[in-house]
Amino acid sequence: MLPPYLAKSLLLFRVRNSLLPVSSFDPNVLNTETHCKFCGTHGPDEFHYLMSCNHFSADRKKLIGNNFVANVLDFKKLMSSSVYISSVALFTHVLAKKLKLSI
Ligand SMILES: [Zn+2]
Repeated sequence: MLPPYLAKSLLLFRVRNSLLPVSSFDPNVLNTETHCKFCGTHGPDEFHYLMSCNHFSADRKKLIGNNFVANVLDFKKLMSSSVYISSVALFTHVLAKKLKLSI
């Protein structure tokens, strides 16, 4: 079982309510960006931050490991497996802290 602070970070990330600067046409997404403010990639989203943003590669490597590549299958594996859920939760928490998001 995740501690409440990690569960909250993961929940907000999964429901796209973490206030990450993401690209979206949804008017309900408050923090919309067309490019990642850290690496310049077009269309940043949760997938980008978790799987491929170069700015967070050290955190990704440390917390999640090197066994994943930036594709939908590995994203699904990380987001749905009980084996990796605590690592992903910790990564989302670190991400939120570094971005100074209110969680
Ligand atoms: Zn990026």
